[in-house]
Amino acid sequence: MSVTIAELLAKVPTGLLIGDAWVEASDGGTFEVENPATGEIIATLASATSQDAIAALDAACAVQKDWARTPARQRAEILRRGFELVAQRAEEFATLMTLEMGKPIAEARGEVAYGNEFLRWFSEEAVRLYGRYGATPEGSLRMMTTRKPVGPCLLITPWNFPLAMATRKVAPAIAAGCVMVLKPARLTPLTSQYFAQTMLDAGLPPGVLNVVSGKSASAISNPIMEDDRLRKVSFTGSTPVGQQLLKKAADKVLRTSMELGGNAPFLVFEDADLDLAIEGAMGAKMRNIGEACTAANRFLVQESVAEEFGRRFAQRLQEQVLGNGLDESVTVGPLVEAKARDSVAALVDGAVAEGATVLTGGKAGEGAGYFYQPTVLTGVTARSSIFAEEIFGPVAPIITFRDEAEAIELANDTEYGLASYVFTQDTSRVFRVSDQLEFGLLGVNTGVISNAAAPFGGVKQSGMGREGGSEGIEEYTSVQYIGIRDPYADQKK
Ligand code: NAP
Repeated sequence: MSVTIAELLAKVPTGLLIGDAWVEASDGGTFEVENPATGEIIATLASATSQDAIAALDAACAVQKDWARTPARQRAEILRRGFELVAQRAEEFATLMTLEMGKPIAEARGEVAYGNEFLRWFSEEAVRLYGRYGATPEGSLRMMTTRKPVGPCLLITPWNFPLAMATRKVAPAIAAGCVMVLKPARLTPLTSQYFAQTMLDAGLPPGVLNVVSGKSASAISNPIMEDDRLRKVSFTGSTPVGQQLLKKAADKVLRTSMELGGNAPFLVFEDADLDLAIEGAMGAKMRNIGEACTAANRFLVQESVAEEFGRRFAQRLQEQVLGNGLDESVTVGPLVEAKARDSVAALVDGAVAEGATVLTGGKAGEGAGYFYQPTVLTGVTARSSIFAEEIFGPVAPIITFRDEAEAIELANDTEYGLASYVFTQDTSRVFRVSDQLEFGLLGVNTGVISNAAAPFGGVKQSGMGREGGSEGIEEYTSVQYIGIRDPYADQKK
């Protein structure tokens, strides 16, 4: 990186982006952003009020008509320039994410590459919103369908992937011709603030993207959701907050996309290639320090290979280096805040009290920062409380199963349905198992499956709607059907 950390932080806008300007909060309020590796305050930002939230919606609505009429090619080229600028600033984005969220710098670079792909992908999808043309079956009408931008959107993102969760929503909304208000997570707003400035630098017209960071999420989202001009809310975060937003969305019958919590099963059958399974487990569990909605949460391992899998996985975790993610040698950063670390510690302590054995880890880190040791637990059962909870930390509970039927039953024994993983060398088993697993995503012999070109999303209480893929842009469009009286209808028999 060509600038120092102090210079980088000075480049990040600290105001609210409303229309064409970064402004102070209407009441002058601010909030602070902390580095979870050190506990130090790294930035102070304007904290949006309800009045600011409505001002942001005003700025968005003022340009909705023009933006929807802007040719798709122009919208695509702005996204493409955004992609190129984020790539040029990749090291700055990666450093910001490590500073505010804690992930190791190598992983932060990975997120920049992944998150930026949504800009490139949707720049390509912007010009491919196709309609249909045909005749009604009885021949009385000619049918046309077209896709229109859904209208002003509220986008609410979580702290765990500060860039990718924003680009996964902002890019398809831009591509479809929607205007938007983005509300980043309170813990990690810096990346979104810098990303929004980068999109302005790429030529995005003022007003299309507005950003209202702040210390009270509901003070920002409630007035926007109660406003008749809003058409859609897209949310990524926890299931309880998603449920609250769905109830609120019902009052105005808003379009919704909900990317909520997970409780991913990671199935290892006795015919699996164990080297691949261990590699996969490292990706599925340790990516983002376990703070991912796709994180493997329950390791379901067939009895005959469970001892070897547990031993080898524990050994790999013992080799990890815990510390400040800015240090290139560190592979496991801190959890995002003290509350997150304490909740992981409570889950592990609860599992141990219920009879689980700690193969490695099992303790919080010492000193400043919110560290928790990578941990493997054995002797966990479907009755253990940890089986039902989203852990959101570097903890791997191992549960054994006898046969395929039991594995599937255990895997589906959760109200969530986001990610799942299967390790086996038997192709027929892959199809048998995938037919029966109630999850929106399935990785086969791999622990990392997220990709901008793939439809990402869950079933059951993990949410609804898909982000990425060709499906991702459809979330920001409404289908209009036009029926035209067939000019030859009277001449048809
Ligand atoms: P969270 O507490 O639900 O927060 C997510 C976002 O919602 C934040 O911007 C938060 O603002 C905001 N928010 C909180 N309460 C709100 C309210 N009453 N009204 C409106 N907005 C509100 O979740 P998190 O802790 O940031 O993220 C972790 C969760 O996200 C996990 O459950 C994880 O599985 C899920 N997740 C899902 C996906 C997916 O694609 N399915 C991806 C990533 C994460 P503040 O920051 O100001 O509280």
